[in-house]
Amino acid sequence: MAKIASIAPPPNLNVIPRVEFLPGSFQQLVHDHGYNVDIEPAFPCPCKDREVAQSICLNCMGVGWVWGSKTQMKAVIQSINKSTKYKDWSAEMLGTANMTIEQRFQLAFMDKVTIADSVSIFAENLLVRELGDGTLFVMTCYPAYEVEFIKMYVSATQPLEDKKEYEVINNKIVFQDGVVKGTSVTVRYKHKVQYVVIDLNHDIRNVYILDDNSRERQEAFPVSGVIRKLHYVPDAYNFSGTNILYNPTNKN
Ligand SMILES: [Zn+2]
Repeated sequence: MAKIASIAPPPNLNVIPRVEFLPGSFQQLVHDHGYNVDIEPAFPCPCKDREVAQSICLNCMGVGWVWGSKTQMKAVIQSINKSTKYKDWSAEMLGTANMTIEQRFQLAFMDKVTIADSVSIFAENLLVRELGDGTLFVMTCYPAYEVEFIKMYVSATQPLEDKKEYEVINNKIVFQDGVVKGTSVTVRYKHKVQYVVIDLNHDIRNVYILDDNSRERQEAFPVSGVIRKLHYVPDAYNFSGTNILYNPTNKN
């Protein structure tokens, strides 16, 4: 005899529990536990000729992106590479994090985020460039506030040569002497942690909540995006000039 299937009765739709997010609590979380950050809005530099930004452009320093006026705010930043324990490690996720800010602000692609009270160390090989007046300099990816050391390659059979005579001006290290244009030096330095926004998974996130009169009301949730360490994202500075021009983006 064939088995007879019993059909499950539908749920009682009159008493469905309702889950509600409280935007105020999330806002409080961002305010209470967030880092102090500076966010600089990004926009592509109009010097860009189809594909390549001009290396003489004083607005973008050859990167093709300009960052405008800073806004100070709080942001919760969480690593999203932390669940790699039982997975293959992937360089794709390296230096990537999730950032959440209050809903009264907005984020856009390539906006720059600087964490105020942070210290990180970065080491990179940099090409020595020359200004019109003969000054020799290198451009670091991050503004360096303390250089640990600079070493120059001499030959394959000799130790690297320490460079001690230099001046640090934000992203630029100017050498007094002893380096040659077109050669590379390795620089290890301390800097503030900087990210750029690479994805906006939650630039709009509205939720319905029931107000005191049992009416549904839509409220905005904090804004969230995926950020990545600056040195993984834009092109290296391809810059041959001296100063960066400031392009304010404040309305007032
Ligand atoms: Zn430009």
